[in-house]
Amino acid sequence: MISSDLVACAISTPFWRWRRRLSVGNEKCALHSERPTSFCAAIIGAGFAGCTIAERLASAGHCVLVIDQRSHIGGNAYDELDAHGVLIHRYGPHIFHTNAQRVVDYLSRFTDWLPYEHRVLASVDGQLLPIPINQDTINRLYNLHLDEAGVQAFLDRVREPRDPIKTSEDVVLNTVGRDLYEKFFRGYTRKQWGLDPSQLSAAVTARIPVRTNRDNRYFNDQFQIMPKDGYTALFQQMLDHPNIRLELNTDFFAIRHRLNAKTVIYTGPIDAYFDDCYGPLPYRSLHFEHEHQPGIAQYQPVAVINYPNDHAYTRITEFKHLTSQSHPGTSIVREYPQAEGDPYYPIPRPENEALYQRYKALAACESNAFFVGRLAQYRYYNMDQVVAAALKTADQILGLARD
Ligand code: FAD
Ligand code: UDP
Repeated sequence: MISSDLVACAISTPFWRWRRRLSVGNEKCALHSERPTSFCAAIIGAGFAGCTIAERLASAGHCVLVIDQRSHIGGNAYDELDAHGVLIHRYGPHIFHTNAQRVVDYLSRFTDWLPYEHRVLASVDGQLLPIPINQDTINRLYNLHLDEAGVQAFLDRVREPRDPIKTSEDVVLNTVGRDLYEKFFRGYTRKQWGLDPSQLSAAVTARIPVRTNRDNRYFNDQFQIMPKDGYTALFQQMLDHPNIRLELNTDFFAIRHRLNAKTVIYTGPIDAYFDDCYGPLPYRSLHFEHEHQPGIAQYQPVAVINYPNDHAYTRITEFKHLTSQSHPGTSIVREYPQAEGDPYYPIPRPENEALYQRYKALAACESNAFFVGRLAQYRYYNMDQVVAAALKTADQILGLARD
């Protein structure tokens, strides 16, 4: 057991002293006993945020504890072989895409990559049409033969100019007009969020580009790649360090009173950290219905088909498209949005942002705690944005100047 007075490694301590003190703590502790437990840096959550910071601190010579309430590492990006040997993403499809060279360089230390460009079809008016909306979407939907300039002229004619653009409804109407909005966006968004697009911030539907050419890729990013051996293998590599101690099935709030870490990096929901003192922040949850299709090599033509207007689920994902796995059968998942359950999505709208800002102000008063990640920062972050935020926080903790 590390004595708590040896672990005086508050952020205000000069770096060299903190480093020396942190590095003494390699003894076993009894997290699940009633004895007080001391650590130098405790990281709550083993997703992208937690694993990145753990790896950075450990590689700089510091001993860190990582805990997660789940039975596995990887957070929502966790993947695993299902009972039939197909690599699936337990918490829905995770496609890696980024423009951040630093994030790619960093993660490339722990994985090789496979190229993968994501393509999605939407089931609309009895057809499977490309989404993001592009030249083919419009030509096939309206039985037209427009070229790029023709599609631009079409959109200029049907769009409903909005100024200012505040909501997710504004974004779509302003670009593609009412008919395309109603066919592709309104129903999907109501289902996904339990809210009308007019009740959501513009950034939600602004994630989806609109194109006049025939590019049918879902993302515009420079890097569109998948970890060669999957995400869980990537996380295992990140945590494979003698300075990292991992405790799964461990709820922070159950051990918080005994955890004597001078620095806490928290990646769970920020409102829970503060005992919901200003009231709970809204999150959107999902139910995942996984299914294996024996003897069917391919279930659908692309990885994801969206169902904006039919069914209670929003989309069906077939994993083999994402992972390039060969298998005589295939595995799919349907996503059913719901209010209750694990918090998967912050809900971007002004009143939620205002509530988050109150929690953020409380977080700023916690001199020895850092809040990083999709739930802790209440941001609709993709994986690469979480890694970028975590690298920035690690630099801050380690005292490295970087913007
Ligand atoms: P998480 O992965 O949520 O990890 C937080 C961890 O903290 C969890 O493991 C949780 O168990 C743990 N935790 C919370 N509270 C406690 C506690 N009290 N005690 C102990 N542990 C605790 N991003 C992309 O870039 N591309 C995609 O295609 C993509 N698809 C997605 C699809 C879905 C359905 C969802 C929900 C998200 C998707 N994302 C995607 C976003 C991506 O999942 C996140 O950006 C990223 O995984 C967030 O990492 P994180 O570490 O911040 O949080
Ligand atoms: N969206 C939509 N129709 C679609 C695809 C997306 O209305 O066919 C809207 C919807 O509000 C969705 C948001 O755009 O929640 C962002 O979509 P994205 O695919 O990025 O969602 P995620 O993968 O994060 O669930």
